[in-house]
Amino acid sequence: MSILVYIEHAEGAIKKTSLEAVSYGKALSDKIGGGDVIAVALGAIDSGELKKAGIAGASKIIHDANDKLTAGVIQAHADAVAQVYNQVGANTLVLAKSSLGDAVAARLAIKLNAGLVSNVVDLPETSDGYKVKRSIYTGKAFAETVINTDHKILAVKKNAVDLLTDGAEADVESVSLSIDEANFATSITSTDKATGEILLPEADIVVSGGRGMKGPENWGMLEDLAKELGAATGCSKPVSDIGWRPHHEHVGQTGVKVAPTLYVAVGISGAIQHLAGVNSSKYIVVINKDPEAPFFKAADYGIVGDAFEVIPKLTEALKAI
Ligand code: FAD
Repeated sequence: MSILVYIEHAEGAIKKTSLEAVSYGKALSDKIGGGDVIAVALGAIDSGELKKAGIAGASKIIHDANDKLTAGVIQAHADAVAQVYNQVGANTLVLAKSSLGDAVAARLAIKLNAGLVSNVVDLPETSDGYKVKRSIYTGKAFAETVINTDHKILAVKKNAVDLLTDGAEADVESVSLSIDEANFATSITSTDKATGEILLPEADIVVSGGRGMKGPENWGMLEDLAKELGAATGCSKPVSDIGWRPHHEHVGQTGVKVAPTLYVAVGISGAIQHLAGVNSSKYIVVINKDPEAPFFKAADYGIVGDAFEVIPKLTEALKAI
């Protein structure tokens, strides 16, 4: 039995979360002494880029380059993945927890009569079915869910697994799947708003400002820092409510949920509703002049200091590297 991993891509690149899903698939295969880890990608993407899935742990990549298979045609994706899943004789599908991943996984669970667990944070215990640990309540707690269906779908949370970087080059096999036209009838179009050049929900680094920045005229400082780091910019809710920043930059429970490798919070107190949007970040750096600011409890690194002194120095130091 093999493990199939569904790969998402955007703007010509495989999403990091999908590479993490491949690495998860490989670790699962090693744990259960299972068979091949096969990745499937749909739509227009360069086969050289797809080979990255091999480095992350896949032994083969199956690709249908049909350019009608954009990320928005979810039913067509579910149909295509189900076909590949059955053709390769898989018993487990792994994918990244994401909007598209959730939508495809739910449809596949029906098609394949599979148990589905989303937000998975660790390899399952496999003695009796799969006992899977997953993140709940926006990362504040964990739950264990047992699935003992023959077919299993695991949607892996971002940053929950280490990305394998020493896998082998894998072959890309081109296929042309026969997908029912009706599955292309409904399409979701994406209207991501760019902030600078990097999209906030996908950003690997985010520099975010709060009310401590005092006013919109001071955002240039954060943008300079973001530029040096190659980061997207975000903000707290009050900042967008007052109109200092656009609403699509608002991070938190009621805004965008981000899961970057690095989240830099400047002049943000760390209210629970803000933390709900950032607590899947791998590393959190907090810059706040109040040592009692609650955000420091969630931080990996903290700087107690005035943002107007710390940020320019930090940017200068980064420029000097
Ligand atoms: P403040 O709480 O005013 O904090 C400003 C911080 O800046 C302080 O910690 C202060 O010490 C620091 N500071 C001041 N001057 C400086 C300086 N010169 N240098 C360094 N630090 C400085 N909030 C969100 O962000 N996202 C959400 O999605 C969200 N959803 C909500 C949903 C509900 C239902 C409710 C009730 C609230 C929600 N909120 C949300 C609001 C949330 O409760 C907080 O009020 C908000 O996050 C606070 O924003 P802030 O940290 O920017 O401002």
